[in-house]
Amino acid sequence: MPKSNEGSFAYAIVPSPGHDMASHPENAGRFIHFDLLRQLALAEGLLEVQITPAPMEAITVVHPQSYLDTLLKAIEESPAYIDYAPTYVTPASFEAALNSAGATLNVLEAVIEGRARAGFSIGRPPGHHATATRAMGFCLLNNVAIAARQAQKQGLQRVMIVDIDVHHGNGTQAILEHDPDVLYVSTHQSGIYPGTGVLNDIGPDADNSTVANIPLPARSGDSTFETVIQQVIKPLAARFVPEILFISAGFDAHWRDPLAGLQLSTAGYHRLASMLAEIAEEHCAGRVIVVLEGGYDPEALVHSVIAVIQGLRGSGIPDDLLGPAPFPDADASSVIQSVLALHDLA
Ligand SMILES: [Zn+2]
Repeated sequence: MPKSNEGSFAYAIVPSPGHDMASHPENAGRFIHFDLLRQLALAEGLLEVQITPAPMEAITVVHPQSYLDTLLKAIEESPAYIDYAPTYVTPASFEAALNSAGATLNVLEAVIEGRARAGFSIGRPPGHHATATRAMGFCLLNNVAIAARQAQKQGLQRVMIVDIDVHHGNGTQAILEHDPDVLYVSTHQSGIYPGTGVLNDIGPDADNSTVANIPLPARSGDSTFETVIQQVIKPLAARFVPEILFISAGFDAHWRDPLAGLQLSTAGYHRLASMLAEIAEEHCAGRVIVVLEGGYDPEALVHSVIAVIQGLRGSGIPDDLLGPAPFPDADASSVIQSVLALHDLA
C-alpha cells in the first residue's frame, strides 16, 4: 500500500527568461546553474507543481487594481525602470510576476491538499519589497503576502512569516502588520536597503506585537542565525502558535553574495532550514512554504536552495559546499538581547 504523502516535497521553478536585464543583479542568469536543482528533484522524487498565472482575485486581495493598472502602463512603455533600487520592467514582466505569484499559490495548494508536506516556490521576480501600491527593490507583486492571504482564505488563519533575506521585507510587513493573525519576523543586515526594519519597529500594536525585526551587524553568520532561531524565533512561534509557516528565503545573506555583507554559508542555510522545519513540525503539522526572494551569486544560490530543501526534508548535504564564511562571526549579542527585551522573551 502506498504511504501517505508525509515525506513529499513540492516545488516549482519559474525562470521567467523574458523578465531580464543583463546588467541588473536580478537577471535571468541567476538561475543558470538550476540544472543541479532539477537533477536533485528528479533523483529524490520531489513533486513538481504546475506554473499557472495567479488568479486576479488572489492578487487583488493584496494589490489594488489601480496599482496593477499603473504596472501595466509602465510595462507598455518598457523596458523601463519603475523605481529606484532600481526596479525594472520588460514587456514580459506582468506575465512573469503573475507566474511567480501563481507558482507560490500552487505550491501552497499542494501542501494544503496534502499532496506534499512542505514546498518551495523558486520564482522570479521576487516579492518581499513590493508594497500594496508600489514596486520596489526588484519586486513587482508580493508573492508571500498573496500566498499568506490565500492560506487564511483556506482556513489556515494564523500565519507566521520568517524573512531571512539580507534585506528587510518592508513590503510584506507593511501589507500584513495590521493583522493580529500574521506574525512577521525578519532577520536582515542593519543599515542597508530599504532602510526599514529597525530594531524597535515592533509593528503598530505595541501591546500585542506581531512584528519582530532583527537587524544584524555586517558579518553575522551561521552561529548568529542559529542563536536567533533558538532564542528569538522559536519562542515567538511557541507564543503565537502558527498554523502555517512561510519562509521568505533570500540567499543574498550568503557570504558569496555581491550585494550585502552578512555571511551565512551553505551549511548554515541547511541548519537554519532544519531548525525552521522543527518549528513547523511542532506547531503547523510540518506545513512550510518557502518563497524565493534575493540571491545574486548564481552558484551560491543554487547550492543554498538545495541546502534549504534538504534541511526541510531532513536530508544531509556535503559540509564543505562552497566553504565556510571568510571572517569570524560578528558579535550580535547586544541586538539579540534588545530583541528579547522588546518582545518580553528575556
Ligand atoms: Zn534581498
